[in-house]
Amino acid sequence: MQIAGAVLTFGMAVSEQIDIKSLHLDQLQERMSSLGQPRYRAEQVLSWLYQKRVNSFTAMTDLPQDLRTLLAGAFDFGKMEVARVLGSRDTTRKFLFRLADGSLIESVLIPASPALYGSRSDRRTACLSTQVGCAYGCKFCASGLEGFSRNLQPNEIVDQIIAIEREAGEKIDNIVFMGMGEPLANFMNLMQAIQIINAPWGIGIGARHITVSTSGLAPQIRKLAEQPLQIRLAISLHGATDEVRNQIMPINRRYDLETLLAACDYYASRKKQRLTFEYILIAGVNDAPEQAHLLAKHARRLSAKVNLIPYNTVHGLSWERPSQSRQEHFLSILREHAVPATLRREKGHDIDAACGQLRLQTQRALEQIPT
Ligand code: SAH
Ligand code: SF4
Repeated sequence: MQIAGAVLTFGMAVSEQIDIKSLHLDQLQERMSSLGQPRYRAEQVLSWLYQKRVNSFTAMTDLPQDLRTLLAGAFDFGKMEVARVLGSRDTTRKFLFRLADGSLIESVLIPASPALYGSRSDRRTACLSTQVGCAYGCKFCASGLEGFSRNLQPNEIVDQIIAIEREAGEKIDNIVFMGMGEPLANFMNLMQAIQIINAPWGIGIGARHITVSTSGLAPQIRKLAEQPLQIRLAISLHGATDEVRNQIMPINRRYDLETLLAACDYYASRKKQRLTFEYILIAGVNDAPEQAHLLAKHARRLSAKVNLIPYNTVHGLSWERPSQSRQEHFLSILREHAVPATLRREKGHDIDAACGQLRLQTQRALEQIPT
């Protein structure tokens, strides 16, 4: 962390300088020019960052010493500390990271994830956070329980992948933005990070292997549709009527179901791949057969597929998952309507517990850290 040049804004230490891992090739080329350096230095630096994965400008040994000093003065070089790792090889692993300002976020590595978002089943998936906390306050979610702290910077999103790959010694080939936070509420930083993740000079993960999940920010879904990248989109629907969504997702009062579905229509018309509806099954809230019939109608309208996720109990919240037979019945209704649908069973439980409950996981993990 670069301490020099740090300023205090609203009680949070924020550096004046941009982090080197928040920049694209063309942006870095421009910076090099303005520093009086040849533009090709940008490619050299990016290769040290994303191919060789060094941790400092000092380690960029084929750059002249003067340039390394110049760069160290001109850019931040944030480092994410691993505070804790939960789980082991061959299982879902949860990584607790400490950011430069002390904030904690959690990311998850899911081995051999089921082919839920269009990926092959033998892929290693990283579930990433985009914010510290979440402002959207869905009634069932642990991430929103304690409110919102701040957006993650692009480098803090990219660094989750680098840190996971370093810790796990494995290459990640699939990304889902289903960790802490609402990705589309941090749109600019998310897009900047996705471009770095996708670029051949960056992490190099194909756009079709990147899934953004949203609770339903309709205008931002339209904005995402305008982006040229073929990113996958998952909608956290969790209710097939305004009545049900209003009960559990405050966002629905701002963008109601029809506004959301119309934005999804627009997205689907601009992109080649199918949308996914995520639907947590919560006993007595959204698991009635009528909801399944209506969900099927929405899915058919959009040619979307549906992932049913049995609710994972959150400490302090009283919601519960329906019985196995009620879950299966809900699924069978979708199938009757010929909607492609999956229901996460045994194995998924652990995965669900990992994603979407990060704030709580973090707190529990913290309690286990010896002081
Ligand atoms: N904010 C975004 C992405 C992060 S949440 C969104 O809401 O889509 C990722 C997913 O985890 C969402 O579908 C969310 O509804 C789900 N989730 C949250 N709490 C959960 C719980 N207790 N059990 C199962 N899924 C949960
Ligand atoms: Fe935020 Fe998503 Fe959790 Fe809702 S489900 S509170 S949008 S992280």
